Amino acid sequence: MNGLHTSIIGRAMEKGLLSIDATDIRDFAENKHNRVDDYPYGGGAGMVMQPGPVYRAFQAVTKDCEKKPRCIYLTPQGRVFDQRMAEEFAKEEELIFLCGHYEGIDERVLEMIVTDPVSIGDYVLTGGELPAMVMIDTISRLVPGVLNNEESAGQESHQGHLLEYPQYTRPDVFEGREVPAVLLSGHHKNIETWRRQQSLLRTRAMRPDMFEQVELTKADRKFLDSLTDEQGE
Ligand code: SAM
Repeated sequence: MNGLHTSIIGRAMEKGLLSIDATDIRDFAENKHNRVDDYPYGGGAGMVMQPGPVYRAFQAVTKDCEKKPRCIYLTPQGRVFDQRMAEEFAKEEELIFLCGHYEGIDERVLEMIVTDPVSIGDYVLTGGELPAMVMIDTISRLVPGVLNNEESAGQESHQGHLLEYPQYTRPDVFEGREVPAVLLSGHHKNIETWRRQQSLLRTRAMRPDMFEQVELTKADRKFLDSLTDEQGE
């Protein structure tokens, strides 16, 4: 979890807004080589993590908790992680991220301790640590105080099922490409309208699945209809 000790999340930990502790399940093995995997019953490729060390690690981590925290098992078989899930998890005081390896973890212990099986996408990684870091980073930046004003964007991709509008900074001409004139106009209402329209166009082009869920305002519809009219559709 070293990657989380830098930048925004690292600063939040230094400020005491978050704390992240890693527990090595191998420390809970009861053999001299600290092995926690064994062959799968019924045969087949790969190894499976045994229930005992996982259970003992869970018990050790939660022993001082008044209420058992939600235990997220990172697995390609889980519900796919998204911003709404992150918002829900950000309200929790404590969370446990259980990372698998090899072919995964013995089903019995999963039934005993896991509350939320979560996938970070429809592909298979070698272990749950990177997925856990993706989730921790996403959830942490929603914790009040973690982002400062410069870092926190009012409107961000995935809020209200919209992707964010394009962003520009200095210089106003780069390799002959100009920043859209409206952004230099100082006219806040026009800038806001332009950004909303860009978000709509971007989401419709890049994520038609998400676009279907956008709650369109009257003005949005008028804008989109005007484009259709222009294109003579
Ligand atoms: N045999 C498992 C299956 O088919 O469902 C895949 C095991 S995978 C090679 C090893 C570990 O990586 C998993 O236990 C899980 O913790 C993690 N992992 C792999 N892909 C993931 C994904 N898309 N999302 C979250 N965790 C994942």
